[in-house]
This record gives sequence, structure tokens and C-alpha cells, in this order.
Amino acid sequence: MPHWVYLILAGVVVIVAVILGRTAAFRSRRYAVEPQPGLKIDIDRAAERLAGAVQLPTITVSDPEKGDWGPFEKFIRYLEQAYPTAHAVMEREIVNGYSLLYRWKGRDESLKPALFLAHIDVVPVEVGTEQDWLYPPFSGALAEGFVWGRGTMDVKNQLISALEAVEYLAAEGFTPPRDFYLAFGHDEETRGEEGAVKLSELLQSRGLSFEYILDEGGAVTVGAMPGVKRPVALVGIAEKGYADIRITAQGEAGHSSMPPRHTAAGMIGRAVAALEKRQRPARISPYLKKTLAYIGPEMGFGLRLILANLWLFGPLFKLAFQSSRAGSALLRTTTAVTVLEGGSRPNVLPKKAGAVINYRIAPGETVRELLDHVRRVVGKGIEVETIQATEPSRISPVDGTGFKAIEQAVYAIFPEAVTVPYIVMGGTDAIRYEPVCDQIYRFTPMLISKEDLERIHGTNERLSLENIERGIRFYIELFKQ
Ligand SMILES: [Zn+2]
Repeated sequence: MPHWVYLILAGVVVIVAVILGRTAAFRSRRYAVEPQPGLKIDIDRAAERLAGAVQLPTITVSDPEKGDWGPFEKFIRYLEQAYPTAHAVMEREIVNGYSLLYRWKGRDESLKPALFLAHIDVVPVEVGTEQDWLYPPFSGALAEGFVWGRGTMDVKNQLISALEAVEYLAAEGFTPPRDFYLAFGHDEETRGEEGAVKLSELLQSRGLSFEYILDEGGAVTVGAMPGVKRPVALVGIAEKGYADIRITAQGEAGHSSMPPRHTAAGMIGRAVAALEKRQRPARISPYLKKTLAYIGPEMGFGLRLILANLWLFGPLFKLAFQSSRAGSALLRTTTAVTVLEGGSRPNVLPKKAGAVINYRIAPGETVRELLDHVRRVVGKGIEVETIQATEPSRISPVDGTGFKAIEQAVYAIFPEAVTVPYIVMGGTDAIRYEPVCDQIYRFTPMLISKEDLERIHGTNERLSLENIERGIRFYIELFKQ
């Protein structure tokens, strides 16, 4: 045989060996956690306190002048009464009327503090769905092993869990290793301008910077990730940006019997088609690589082989992943044409036509780049304007104190689950705190099914007693680290 045949054979053997070697090294993470002495948490009592919090309808207020602030005022007093020990050991400030900031002084002043977030407001119940609730949405009913009502999953559960943990540990005489701050905004569901923004500004004005921050976000889900049998604890390390962009075309008004080749409506139609066709590029970005590095080892051999060898199979993976909506959303800035405007009568040329496109911007891209892209694609003669836009968040590391602490606490409470860093598609208060911290994580300690996800902002929102216990134990575990 000629020499080159041997060379090719040797090359193939090396590549196969690399692929198999990398696949074999692609293993599940293992954790070492000391078994905790049994905690004596009074779950019934905690459930009653969560129910009490749900009974105050702190419905998010979009117009501060017209809102009903009564429930928010009562909520602050309710927390004082429900958690007397926590309120005795922590300093509390009311910020901008209805948001709360707590500080629990720690043992070691040389350590940077940690900050735990939640929000007080809840989304309203959609008109016409009230009757579909098995128990009224603000009843806080304790039935069938659940607390029922708006806010039990988003996110009074997280707020109450953190306070329960402080109450429990303070009663034991525990002092935190570092300063702990708790910050609860009152308008997360309406963008956080009055709550999280003001809280963050206050912390900045005091020159504070935090080791890490935990806010609401991913939960532990079963069956949500195809091909993965273990429950998956999704910890958000970044969130996508947001932009509503309007495009407008001007035309000549007049009768439609002698039309121009393209009317204003026609120009918008062409522009919209072009924007859908020329999407933002799909990329296996650094954050997606992190997600895949954590989730890959839990998958079957075929997928594991591909994910361990993205250096070779990257293009193939992108192609397969793009075919699903969820996959595509992870790979790129998404484009959704949501509103069409223009034209009123069948026989009249529209003077003006427009469309609104909703973009969710992938971390690593900017609003600026997106606008340039839209202008390029729609071409001359069409105006482009931003209605509102938020840049994507930074990407938090997975090798720092914060992620490790969360990962360990997840392992202690959900030993069967695998912790996976991921990107949150919707916005949270967390992004407002970027000036005071660069390790920001988004995780809500509850175990839910894929179907349960619909209850969030939906009908029959509820939290099981098991999840109440898990939430409290999670925070106790985290606070002790
Ligand atoms: Zn929320």
C-alpha cells in the first residue's frame, strides 16, 4: 500500500481516539456534602405564613398614581408580625415607599456581603379566568397538600423561604459568616423602575459591592429537558435583552384604482418578510457551551458523543438545535413580528403603514448592533425606531463562590438533580444589580413538572408542602455556607 493510505488511516484512528476520549471524560459532576443534622422545621406553620402573604393582594401597579397601595402597606406590617425573630436580628429599611431592604450582620467584616432578592408584587388574575381557579386566587387556601393562590410560585415562596430561614437560624443563635442582605422590590412585574432600581441605587450610594446575588429564576424541573432522566436544576447565569422596534413606511394617500407598484402596506410586507428571512446568526456562545457542558453528560451516548466534541460536530448540532423553537431561542437573538399597523379601507391607499418587531437579544450582542441589522435588512425608505430596549445582561461565572454555593445547596436539598447553568429568557430584577455585583444567579428552589410551569402567571398557581420545606431548607443550607 502507498504511504499516504497509512497516513490517512493513522489520522482517522487519532480522530476517533480523540472523540471517544473526550466522550469518556465527559462525566456527571459529583459533589461532596456533609450530611446535615436533621432540621426541625414546622412546615404547617410555614405554610400558614405563606398563605397569609398570599392573602394580601399585592397586585403589581403600572401607574403609581392609580395603584392600590393598601395591600403593600399591610404586607410590610404582616412580615414584621410573622417573623419577629428575623426582624429582631436584622436591620430593616423601607425604600421608596413599599420595597424592603434587610441587613443581617455577619461574623467577618473582611468578607464581601451576599444579597438575596425576591419581589413583593404579583401579576393580576386574567379577567374571565377567575372561575377556573379551584380555590380563589387570593384565598391562600391550604388544601390537597398545597397552598393555593397568586404568588405561591412567583415569587412570595422565595421571599417567605428566605425569611423562614433567617427566623429559624436566628432562633438557634446562628450568626452569618458574612453580611447578608435581603432586598424585596415592589414592581418587578412592571419592570422594577420604582423597586429594584431604587434599591440598587441605594446600595451603590453606600459603596457596597456583593460577593454574589441570588434572585428568582429557573427551578428544578422533571422532564423539561429532552433525553435527560434526572431532574434538572436550572440556575440562570444570564438573561436576554429586550427590544420593541417599530418600522414605518410612508406612502401617497389616494384612490386605489391607480396604485403605485408598492403601497406603504406593501413595503412593510416586504420588510417584514426580509426580517423573518434574515434572522440574527445562530451561535454556540460561551454561555450555551456552559449549559451543554453541564447537561451533556446526562444524555444518551449519541448526544454525549456530539456534545463532548463540538469542535467537530458544532455545525451539525446547530442545525439540529435550530429546528426547535426552544433550541433556536438558545442559539440566537429571536425575531417576532407582533403588530401590523396601517390601512383602513379596501379601496384607499394607506398614507402610512408600520410593524412592531419584538426581539430578545442574546448576551454578547447589543441593541445598537440589532438596530444596524434591522436598518440594513429593511433598506432605504423605511424608518426604524426603538420603542423600548434593554441590553442583555452580563454572563456570570460558574467557577466563583456564588455558583458553587448554590450548586452545593441544590445538591443538599435535591440530591438526585443535576445543576445546569442556563440563560433566562424573560427579564428579572437581577439585571438592575449589575453595578454592585458580577456574580448574579437566578434560581427558585422548588421541584416542579413541565405542566406546573403554566401555573406561573396562569391559573391555579399553587405550591406543595414539600416545596415549602425544600425552599426553606435550601436557604438554611445556603446561609450556612
Ligand atoms: Zn417573579
